[in-house]
Amino acid sequence: MSTEQVLNRALGAYLGFACGDALGATVEFMTPKQIQKRYGVHQDIIGGGWLGLEAGQVTDDTQMSLAIGQAIIDHQGWNIQAVADNFVAWLESDPPDIGNTCRRGIMRYRDSGELFGLPRDDDAGNGACMRNLPVVLATLNRLDYFNEWSLQQSHITHNNPLSNAATLTLGHIVNHLINGHDMAACIQEAERLISQYSEFSYNPYSGKASGYIVDTVQTVLHYFFGTDSFESCLIATVNQGGDADTTGALVGMLAGAKYGVQQIPERWLTQLDQQLVAQIRQQTTGLIRLAGLL
Ligand code: MN
Ligand code: MN
Repeated sequence: MSTEQVLNRALGAYLGFACGDALGATVEFMTPKQIQKRYGVHQDIIGGGWLGLEAGQVTDDTQMSLAIGQAIIDHQGWNIQAVADNFVAWLESDPPDIGNTCRRGIMRYRDSGELFGLPRDDDAGNGACMRNLPVVLATLNRLDYFNEWSLQQSHITHNNPLSNAATLTLGHIVNHLINGHDMAACIQEAERLISQYSEFSYNPYSGKASGYIVDTVQTVLHYFFGTDSFESCLIATVNQGGDADTTGALVGMLAGAKYGVQQIPERWLTQLDQQLVAQIRQQTTGLIRLAGLL
């Protein structure tokens, strides 16, 4: 893998993530039938949705990722307190959306300084998994750091074994893709997860795409492994509805890492908020450099 290829795939992952968030947000919490009735096939970044977004605006998924990425870059390494502080600043910035579990964890930190919540069975939402891409990028050649940093950032809001396992697995898959490993390596990661927690099995696919981490991961893996281009992968995923901005973001991350930034449709990249695109480009370079790959 050349440096150029690594950067191309890393940028594909981060911009693909933001595209999936912006595209999926329009149809978040809708059923496939409702989407079909209203849009036919939903395939353009047009904003709207239950959050009433501007076209090209992203939601908590991308914003929380940027908060983690900025903390890593500002401190040239891992500083969990800086991550938590950035979450607080984000919470107080009146974001378009915030999940209940994220809000509860961030407020606990703000009020008590406590960085980690106690383990909870009902913390199995996708809120920790969805924001972990900057950690993957900063630790591309240091998997030992990857596991530690990922779990620390997760536990600020989500301390749950299913969330932990999913966060690590998706990160490992992205790592394989950016490093140019083959699909067999990715499938093996998915199989390892399923052997640990059989509930993640996605074949046959149930069609559930909720914010429960099990439903989210099943949806993401089903459409990632079952499609053969960036565009078809994202469109199929978000038209499944449910937590479509988050499934869209996560599948966009995987597909972007696999196919590279040049496979992201131009119309999506130009529809994205351009300040956001610049910020993502800057963070991607900074994080890859920190990983020692630039
Ligand atoms: Mn969201
Ligand atoms: Mn969501």
